[in-house]
Amino acid sequence: MYSYEQMLTELELLKNTYPNLMILQEAGRSLDGRKIMEVVIGNPDTSRHILIQSTIHGREYMNTRLAMKQLGETLKKYTYGTYHENSYESLFEQVCFHILPMTNPDGVTISQRGLKGIRNASLRSILETCRQNDLGRVDDEISADMYWKRWKANARGVDLNRNFNSGWKAYQGSVLPSFERYKGEWPESEPEVQTILKVAENNRTVCTISYHSSGEVIYWDYGSTEETLEADRQLAKLVSHITGYNMESSVQSAQDAAGCSDYFVLEKNIPSVTIENGKADCPLPMEEFGPIWKANDNLWPALAEFMLQDV
Ligand SMILES: [Zn+2]
Repeated sequence: MYSYEQMLTELELLKNTYPNLMILQEAGRSLDGRKIMEVVIGNPDTSRHILIQSTIHGREYMNTRLAMKQLGETLKKYTYGTYHENSYESLFEQVCFHILPMTNPDGVTISQRGLKGIRNASLRSILETCRQNDLGRVDDEISADMYWKRWKANARGVDLNRNFNSGWKAYQGSVLPSFERYKGEWPESEPEVQTILKVAENNRTVCTISYHSSGEVIYWDYGSTEETLEADRQLAKLVSHITGYNMESSVQSAQDAAGCSDYFVLEKNIPSVTIENGKADCPLPMEEFGPIWKANDNLWPALAEFMLQDV
């Protein structure tokens, strides 16, 4: 299991190893006081900023392990590595990546350690209520252990990927706070969502990638038109080509409104795709990491190269 603490330790280690190649900063805080970390690599003065956010759903923490390996490999290759004909250095000098390796650290902790992972007593009591609410709704037979393992939401039962201000009003989902699909009391009510928006708005964000699990598919086409639709198609084609996952239109599924990619495409005209890694139900078994790494190994340099093509 890849934990929040392990991520913090590895981030510090990378920062100490490559002090001139990365900026490490706290972009926000979760409800239970965990840091939402942001890594910046590339050239902060460029006009092309790329936002990569992983693990907005607690049980999908395999994607944090992936983001950390992507980061470590990129830093290792930064000075001498090449991708196609370009050196890493020249590619990353013209773009800037903002990586949020774990946007929902409380959700991850709940999925890995259950209720005892949460320090704040009033949050624990909200979580107990979630479980009571869900008992009638989900499978009655589910054990407490299994219930927390499958946790997707934040520490007060809001599904962060249904809390964005795009189709929020129409989205139904769960009526009460729950392990999944409760959209919150109002759009952008949650600190984790506010953090993602702040990172995107502080920079000239030209595309966003959201990492989820599972399905081995690239979701795109969130209902945009014309230029945004075309730009989103080009981005999705690249990501599909690199990962080997098929592209799937999201336009039909009103079930999945108010998500991060929906918001950036529809409200900000920023091309965005969602990558669903892995095959099994979450949390994914460790054996899946090998194929996931293989699919995503070259994605960052490929994205950098792609961004330079359409100047
Ligand atoms: Zn997800």
